[in-house]
Formats: sequence, structure tokens, C-alpha cells
Amino acid sequence: MPELPEVETTKRGLEPLILNKKILSVHIYKKKLRWDIPSHLVSSLKQKKIIKISRRAKYLLIDTDDGQLVIHLGMSGSLCVVPSNEILKKHQHFELKLDNLTSIRFNDPRRFGSILWQETGKPLKILQNLGPEPLSYEFDNDYLYNFSIGKSTNIKTYIMDSSIVVGVGNIYASESLFLAGISPKRVSGKTSKSRYKILTEAIKIVLTDAINNGGTTLNDFSNVDGSPGYFSQNLSVYGRESMSCIRCEGKIKRIIQNQRATYYCPICQH
Ligand SMILES: [Zn+2]
Repeated sequence: MPELPEVETTKRGLEPLILNKKILSVHIYKKKLRWDIPSHLVSSLKQKKIIKISRRAKYLLIDTDDGQLVIHLGMSGSLCVVPSNEILKKHQHFELKLDNLTSIRFNDPRRFGSILWQETGKPLKILQNLGPEPLSYEFDNDYLYNFSIGKSTNIKTYIMDSSIVVGVGNIYASESLFLAGISPKRVSGKTSKSRYKILTEAIKIVLTDAINNGGTTLNDFSNVDGSPGYFSQNLSVYGRESMSCIRCEGKIKRIIQNQRATYYCPICQH
């Protein structure tokens, strides 16, 4: 499942390929994704120029001179840039043909992704009430500590709440807590500011490493064959149940928190 680093990597990969290009035509091959792709895009995006691409949480935002395309990759979505005359593949549901004979195509076998439209000055509901970006200055230990006061949720569920901070997905939550030496079972409201300092730094390190790893896989970005090709991470704890801890003599445990699997070392995380 694409997480923040994959979305950021996609954004960086797309940028030089699509920026300042004009959209010649818009093609909706399968309307039904998580939500229906708005039909009006076929006419309203025509002849519009792509002036910016950015990311907010796990949403890719493609700005035209009039409004913004909002793309979420869902569980299995990916974007590729290919020659416009390349044969359409099975799970390619949406296409923007550009004025340099290339196309942006949205591929999504499971169709939990979404392609939405945001008019200038009319923000979509899903983009409101989002917490700060984890790699921003705004996200620090003061912030994370102050929000935790009085909360009884466990710390792993707390850092995965997108109204607190966006983009700390299930894998990265386990990895960050492991790096910080903090037990995922710890109560968020009973965690000290100094631990939150270690944790915010760990989250930034884990996500930055993942983004940097992903950068290398984008060398052949424009040749993406339709398979998502999310990069495999060097994971320290996630998915390593019953294996030896890389830091101590402990064995990695797997528990379920808020219906999601959590991996941790009961010896060096407390
Ligand atoms: Zn350990």
C-alpha cells in the first residue's frame, strides 16, 4: 500500500515530466474508483496547463491555471508517464494526454484510489482537518506532547491519527517507535516531553530514509510497467515476528492495536 514516502517519490518523479505541459485531452476508462471520477474533467481540464504538483498527506495535488486535480493512490494505485500511443493496460482507468505526446496514466487494480477535483477557493472536505506534515518544522515534540495531554489511547494509535499528524502509516509507526525505543503500548497522555522529542526525531528519520530509498527506484519512472513497484524498505521491526531483535537478544512480538498489526521488541522498547 502506498504510504507517504511513495506518494512523495511519485510527486518528485512526476514533476519534471509534467510541469508546464498542457493537457490536450482527458480520458476516463473506468469511472468507478473509491468515488466516481467527475465526468466534467473531460471538458474542464482540456487545454489547461499543469503549473504545479505538490503533496498533502497522501494526496497528490496537480494544479492547473484553474483548479486542482486531487489524486489518492488508495491501496494499489500508481501513476506513470508513457508515450500517448502506448497500448492501454488493463488497470489503467484514467489518462491525461499532454502536448508533448506523453500521457499520465492512473493504474489501480483494486480501485480504492480516487481522482477528485478541487475548485479554487472551495477546499474538499477530505483535505480539511488534517494535522501538520511530519517533515515540517511545525511537527515537533512540543506539538506532539501538548496534543497528547489527557489522552488515553496508546501511543502507536495516537501517532497514526491524521488529525494529529499526517502520513505516519502502520509500517512507519512501528518502525519509528522501535527506533525511539518506545513501547507501542505506552499511553500517549502519560508519555514525557523528552520521549516525544526522541519520537518526533525518529518519525522524521524513518520517513526521510524511506523517501531517499525511493528516489533511486524512480530512475525508470517513465517506463513503469503498470505494476505499482513500491519500493521495499529495509525494515527493522515490521513483519519480523518471532525473529531476533537487531539491537538486543529479544524476540520481536506482534500484537493488534486498533485492528492493525504492531511489531515491537518487548526488551528494548519500554
Ligand atoms: Zn530489542
